[in-house]
Amino acid sequence: MTQQTEQAAQRRVATALIIGYQRSIELLTQEINEVAKRHIPDFHRLNDAVSTFWKCNKSPIGMCVFKLSERGLKTDCRYCHQPSERK
Ligand SMILES: [Zn+2]
Repeated sequence: MTQQTEQAAQRRVATALIIGYQRSIELLTQEINEVAKRHIPDFHRLNDAVSTFWKCNKSPIGMCVFKLSERGLKTDCRYCHQPSERK
């Protein structure tokens, strides 16, 4: 194998790995949104974001749920009212 074909093969492997990571993250996100939708009737993935970091004892799903503003910015959690970044 020439050096060029070897580099091309390495790029294809790296691209395939990235596609796999993207697919895994998409599936997990879908599952998180389905859990939220089951327990929060007005939850919509385009308007709301479930935190994958902040646990929330007031939330029906145990994690903070942020409303997204028009610019996609997260507001405070709709249950505990803590901001998404708690510095
Ligand atoms: Zn919360």
